Amino acid sequence: MPLIAVLPGDGIGPEVTTQARRVLEALDLGLSFEEAPVGGAAYLQSGRPLPPETVALAKRADAVLFGAIGDPRFEALERRLRPEAALLGIRRELGLFANIRPAKLFPGLEDASPLKAEVVAGLDLVIVRELTGDVYFGEKGRRTNQEGLRQGYDWMGYDEGEVERIARIGFETARKRRRKLCSVDKANVLETSQLWRDVVNELSTEYPDVHLTHMYVDNAAMQLVRRPAEFDVIVTGNLFGDILSDQASMCAGSIGMLPSASLSGGSGANGMYEPIHGSAPDIAGQGKANPCAAILSAAMLLRHSLENEASAQRIEAAVAQALVGGARTPDLGGTHTTQQMGDAVVQALR
Ligand code: ATP
Ligand code: MG
Repeated sequence: MPLIAVLPGDGIGPEVTTQARRVLEALDLGLSFEEAPVGGAAYLQSGRPLPPETVALAKRADAVLFGAIGDPRFEALERRLRPEAALLGIRRELGLFANIRPAKLFPGLEDASPLKAEVVAGLDLVIVRELTGDVYFGEKGRRTNQEGLRQGYDWMGYDEGEVERIARIGFETARKRRRKLCSVDKANVLETSQLWRDVVNELSTEYPDVHLTHMYVDNAAMQLVRRPAEFDVIVTGNLFGDILSDQASMCAGSIGMLPSASLSGGSGANGMYEPIHGSAPDIAGQGKANPCAAILSAAMLLRHSLENEASAQRIEAAVAQALVGGARTPDLGGTHTTQQMGDAVVQALR
């Protein structure tokens, strides 16, 4: 019986995760679920954002269904006690280095996107974001410079092994889709990006069937607004991927629609699945959150960690059907509550 670790977290995390779990349960796949606290919720209970029991459960489980973390009440704490530390910590503990973020326009959501319907028509792309390197994990600090001014710094770096393993996932992902891979960097300015580009080019000889292009991140940001449907798979570093995937989410109508998978390799072992959005404290506890991103994350869990493609597609079809039937949370311009949106998806599964 596959074990799913459910880590709801903070803010809207528990609200959307409840709906995702409901949808998984409705499929009757014989999954077992075990819940544990993470983030601000865990800090409140135990004084630690990532308790060892939570890590142990995540490691023991076949996959992790994650909500969101972040709680403004704890922003002033030192970095290792802040809720966000839990997310970085669990990624590190599980060795998750690849974040797969599909952005797809669901039927009927053309009007939800701030872009014109003809621009987003056919939008169906995947961002493969590196998760464990880059400026996020380099040395950081404050110092006083020679002029006596306060200075902050974050060291940015990648080694070739880190670039190769994420690039490989980019190529493999493209191979299963429309065979177009766009590697995004800032090689005109950054040494890190020049190495990135070299390694991606070297690896491309193993994937002659994939059409590889390179794009500077500033241009990629522009093209995502101009012609988002042109993209198939984008592979990029941690920082650029963070920014571009929030941007891509709006092309798809709402940040509340975008799921993600964090993987430690091609296989899905130890995978963690979460919406790309955060804990949204501004709408937490009001039943306004769109649970689709969490529900679609559950579909990715079935696809990547449990190798159950048929059930993953059933969930995705049910979300599409619920939307076509008019179910809309406020972010999509409707009045459905989180629970009612979940109801509509469960109903569509039947
Ligand atoms: P993080 O740093 O964790 O990425 P963030 O600061 O980017 O968090 P989010 O929590 O993602 O912020 O919220 C950004 C905005 O999107 C907020 O206004 C929030 O209300 C809205 N939002 C996020 N998720 C949802 C959702 N599932 N449904 C509706 N609105 C959402
Ligand atoms: Mg964000």
